[in-house]
Amino acid sequence: TETLATRDPELAAAMTAELGRQRKEIELIASENIVSAAVMEAQGGVMTNKYAEGYPGKRYYGGCQHVDVAENLAIDRAKQLFGCGFANVQPNSGSQANQGVFQALLAPGDTILGMSLDAGGHLTHGAKPNQSGKWFNAIQYGVRQQDLELDYDQVAALATEHSPKMIIAGGSAIPRIIDFARMREIADSVGAYLLVDMAHFAGLVAAGHYPSPFPHAHVATTTTHKTLRGPRGGMILTNDDAIAKKVNSAIFPGIQGGPLMHVIAAKAVAFGEALRPEFKDYQRQVIKNAQALADELMKGGLDIVTGGTDTHLMLVDLRPKSVKGNATEEALGRAHITCNKNGIPFDPEKPTITSGVRLGTPAGTTRGFTETEFRQIGRWIVQVVDGLAANGSDGNAEVEAEVRAQVEALCDAFPIYPGL
Ligand code: PLP
Repeated sequence: TETLATRDPELAAAMTAELGRQRKEIELIASENIVSAAVMEAQGGVMTNKYAEGYPGKRYYGGCQHVDVAENLAIDRAKQLFGCGFANVQPNSGSQANQGVFQALLAPGDTILGMSLDAGGHLTHGAKPNQSGKWFNAIQYGVRQQDLELDYDQVAALATEHSPKMIIAGGSAIPRIIDFARMREIADSVGAYLLVDMAHFAGLVAAGHYPSPFPHAHVATTTTHKTLRGPRGGMILTNDDAIAKKVNSAIFPGIQGGPLMHVIAAKAVAFGEALRPEFKDYQRQVIKNAQALADELMKGGLDIVTGGTDTHLMLVDLRPKSVKGNATEEALGRAHITCNKNGIPFDPEKPTITSGVRLGTPAGTTRGFTETEFRQIGRWIVQVVDGLAANGSDGNAEVEAEVRAQVEALCDAFPIYPGL
């Protein structure tokens, strides 16, 4: 049988190069992880061929008996992981999970209240260029000026002023634990639904290292590929039967057609992995590593938004060194440390420049890094940033090359996908 390399050498070369990049670079993008070979095997398997519109036992196509097993495994494991009564595992992405909830519970023109992008929220929570910001009357809350933590008083005041139909808690750059009980109290005070988007911290929740959105959330959404360490995709959870029914209709036939059964199969595998005791240890280590990295960066003279982290991620405020987020992302990239520039709350710079970078520990922890390695990574980051501070946006090529060599040695000592 023909292999990918003989059938399509061009594409095969890109995949080999990407594997090499993942092997040789330290991945600090907070929303990424390194899935198991079993998850990749399921996702790369024969279920990609199958049409299965509908839900297990109620399909619009024949021959669904085996994909039904996969979807039921994913659903049952998701419910067990998050201690809830209902899961829809069909959303193709985190964005589509949110879109599905909106389709289920809102009508165009309704008012929603979510965290603004520049304070740490997500595009799909009402940002202007996103459908959520165009089709709804989107009001946005932020963080407090004094401590950069979620501004619950502002949420309450905006809720009273605008009577939203839905309040959204969660985001992409929130390093601290969200008070779901408080958010629910505010939602109840104006008769709004509370949607918790736990995309970033779902793995921490599953492991019991971050409070569960339940019983406070009416409905929760997540991606499956961040801390949860599954294939790229989304999921919707609830304990409310009426909402569950609406969610199922909203995903299919509301906004999606045939579900990605190969991805659902891989979700089942990942959820099975997340139910194992080792997953709790992994997530504990993710948090310990993030705290060690944040501490080392502060020792090196950088600021961390809110002074630390309770989770897998941190926002580094680069202003003490007078360097920008975009130049830092590029300089670290030259040293084979991968991250993304990120606005910090009240950032004076444009989103294409920024005063910050966002760093996360899920991927590095998967490959086996502990606090020792993350403290070393923190020192390397400070060296590269100091090179930028001293030499302008070109950085210090010598320092970057030295760090790159050490990064590669560390990566070689913690190999990924040895069989590939
Ligand atoms: N919600 C939050 C909080 C996220 O951080 C993300 C991912 O960036 C999403 C939703 C969207 O997920 P996806 O990129 O799978 O559409």
